[in-house]
Amino acid sequence: MITRFAPSPTGPLHLGHAYSAMLAHDMARERGGRFLLRIEDIDRSRSRPEWEALIFEDLRWLGLDWETPVMRQSERLSAYRAALEDLWRRGLLFACTCNRRDVLEAVAAPHEGTPVFGPDGVVYPGTCRVRKAATVEAPVPDGVALRLDMAMAVSEAGDCSFVETGRIAGGGEERVGVRAWEAVEQIGDVVLARKDMGTSYHLSVVLDDSAQGVTDVIRGEDLFEATKIHVILQRLLDLPTPRYHHHQLIRDEAGKRLAKRDDARSVRSFREAGHSAQDVRRMVGL
Ligand code: GLU
Repeated sequence: MITRFAPSPTGPLHLGHAYSAMLAHDMARERGGRFLLRIEDIDRSRSRPEWEALIFEDLRWLGLDWETPVMRQSERLSAYRAALEDLWRRGLLFACTCNRRDVLEAVAAPHEGTPVFGPDGVVYPGTCRVRKAATVEAPVPDGVALRLDMAMAVSEAGDCSFVETGRIAGGGEERVGVRAWEAVEQIGDVVLARKDMGTSYHLSVVLDDSAQGVTDVIRGEDLFEATKIHVILQRLLDLPTPRYHHHQLIRDEAGKRLAKRDDARSVRSFREAGHSAQDVRRMVGL
């Protein structure tokens, strides 16, 4: 078993991250497996070396150890680019010049009906997809976003499903199917390369989990729908699909999920208040 924790160095780790990291670490250790760490720093405008340093410090304080060298997404841009070129040549991508406002205006048009919200926000109305046919022969364009043509993707991907181990009490497994029409209507043409990054969370996470040989992805249940995108990408790119363990989210007293800016529940604040790693384990129910 190979598990991983993949934080973005864009703020302090909170109890929810601690739970995810400790769970992934414990699962690997219990099975004599390996636990890896990956720094998801593709968002250069929000990633900071000081947050990365704090992540290492917090995880060490929590009693975790991981293999080195640690993978950094900012060092993997050529791998992401190669996958984009492959998908582009196969006609599965299209260039998109819409900004957030264009998308919102297009979905608000009277004939569009009620906007549907998917894992990445409002489902893309397809504005730039109509221009696609003319662009496939050209090289992959720079400086624009690249979206996945989801209808084409699901028809090429064929049967998509994954094994889920996190949602059945007692550790049972279930197979979750990814329905083609749901992917088209409820996820839509997701961005695989952001204009400012040359990649996206979805593409990078899929390529990296595969490059690191991750067998079990442990992540919060807020990413359950996003996992369907990942499985479709794995089929398209001929990569293995790991098992997925979507765990419950750690919430505050009001039932709200924790956010990066929620400094009161940061691992550092518990550490500085004199708590122990065992206290943190108890707080998150481990
Ligand atoms: N960097 C992502 C996060 O912090 C990783 C989530 C995942 O794929 O497990 O939410």
